[in-house]
Amino acid sequence: MTDVNRVALVTGAARGIGRVIALTLAGPGMTVYVNDVAQLEEAEAVCREIEAKGGVAAVLPFDVSQAAQVDAGVGAIVKESGRLDILVNNAGIARDQLLVRMKEDDWDRVLGVNLKGAFNCLKAAARPMIKQHYGRIINISSIVGVMGNPGQINYAASKAGLLGLTRSAARELASRKITVNAVAPGFIKTEMTVALPSKVQEEMLAQIPLQRFGEPEEVAHLVAFLASDRAAYITGQVFHVNGGMLMV
Ligand code: NAP
Repeated sequence: MTDVNRVALVTGAARGIGRVIALTLAGPGMTVYVNDVAQLEEAEAVCREIEAKGGVAAVLPFDVSQAAQVDAGVGAIVKESGRLDILVNNAGIARDQLLVRMKEDDWDRVLGVNLKGAFNCLKAAARPMIKQHYGRIINISSIVGVMGNPGQINYAASKAGLLGLTRSAARELASRKITVNAVAPGFIKTEMTVALPSKVQEEMLAQIPLQRFGEPEEVAHLVAFLASDRAAYITGQVFHVNGGMLMV
């Protein structure tokens, strides 16, 4: 599915959907930088799995919400690998609370990681991509950014913001052959979702026409296609992977 001799950065890739995206991109000739902020042992394990698939991998620790750390991380990639072809903005957090109880810090942190974090990485990655006249940027949004969800004002706002960021960046970077797309997963089986109370999970399941939750691989295969040379004529789009829970 992927192309050879490409250099990719996947944020928040120590576990969950990001881990599977990093593994799906991996293959002979591919270099994958596995970013995470805290789980560096898990990130090292992802690198070993990528190497077992014949790829090159390295852990790149930074907090996506900190612009200086992101700039230093992307700078290190360009110094070491000479280029950056693929950016997957996957790192994300949730701090759920009803509107009237939500603390300012819950708003700031979720927007800081999910939206500003994507902006920081996009800005840093755009510089080498503009020089190369090549780039593939994929932002991981959410069904919640389109539908809304009670108790997730901060998360939904951050994921909706990513869609505007995607479309604006797609228009701005198209002349340099850089594509920018968003993938909006529905309910995917990861630590983020298994932590939800079983009653919430049952309510979600009842709304999904395909009658099951998604697997991280089902998001990752689409991301890998959008990251490939074959997706050259697709930009500014939002792709929904949600078992039919939302049809647009
Ligand atoms: P996850 O299992 O919680 O994994 C998220 C990863 O992001 C973790 O490895 C986490 O590392 C990392 N991360 C958090 N803050 C970071 C930061 N500031 N800088 C760098 N890395 C950071 O989540 P997931 O379910 O795989 O979700 C991945 C993405 O898909 C998220 O953007 C999420 O919003 C989106 N999504 C998920 C679902 C779903 O159903 N699972 C649905 C729609 C959208 P630490 O643990 O070290 O903090």
